[in-house]
Amino acid sequence: MIRVGYGQDAHKFLKSPSAKKCIIGGLVFDDVEGLDADSDGDIVYHAICNAITSITHVPILGDVAIKMCKEENITDSFQYLKKALATLGEWKIVFVALAIEAKRPKFQKRALELRQSVAGALGIDVDLVGITFTSGQELTHFGQGLGVECRAVVTFIKSIHV
Ligand SMILES: [Zn+2]
Repeated sequence: MIRVGYGQDAHKFLKSPSAKKCIIGGLVFDDVEGLDADSDGDIVYHAICNAITSITHVPILGDVAIKMCKEENITDSFQYLKKALATLGEWKIVFVALAIEAKRPKFQKRALELRQSVAGALGIDVDLVGITFTSGQELTHFGQGLGVECRAVVTFIKSIHV
């Protein structure tokens, strides 16, 4: 049995200078401000969490992560992702396709590093993670550099017991 999960997430950059680092796909990007979120605002991990929720119906970002953040002060989105993965049961990830829209930071030169980080977080081979980037010609707030957006399509497989 196969399911295709779909998730999206976006955050704007903090306006004022702060000590908060910009973390996307588990990597730190030093050339931009941190993201405006109670958590680290990792759009890649959040989009993947939402793609997982789209097949499990367990609200991770909308419920579990909020509690982890508010009650335990956990802001590392990798911890939310681990909670999401724990809800998969017998579903296995076959492939992850990510599309990021942003004017900044510059992603392309770190594409392989980003794929490796996401693959490591999910416990899958790097060949099973694909990422594309677009600047979007300044048509959206992401393309204008005000924030970043990630869309994730995740394919899952589960063997049917007969
Ligand atoms: Zn988010």
